Amino acid sequence: MKQKIGECECADCGFTACDVGLDKSGHPYAVCWGKECEGAQYFTYGKKPRVRALLERMKFRPLPGFNVAELRARYGLDAAPGPAPVPDPAPSPPPAPAAKPRKTIFG
Ligand SMILES: [Zn+2]
Repeated sequence: MKQKIGECECADCGFTACDVGLDKSGHPYAVCWGKECEGAQYFTYGKKPRVRALLERMKFRPLPGFNVAELRARYGLDAAPGPAPVPDPAPSPPPAPAAKPRKTIFG
């Protein structure tokens, strides 16, 4: 593993200290050292649902100093797992100012 970024739990055997690192392309992946998996690797291939599964379902625990928020943002995942945020209706932009009334000779 070139760069370890943290640890996670294995979705298959429940081993809680799988290594999580970055693959050649910089995508996170996990290696399970549990008895049943013996080094089985879980690659995300940079695919959003797989990255999400690694971070959330497999309970990714980053090493101190690793920026998970940045990683999540890179794959289009929201900032933090938890209750779904209530969508905040964006305020509609103010109406474009009306064209200046043309001055007429009577104005
Ligand atoms: Zn496992």
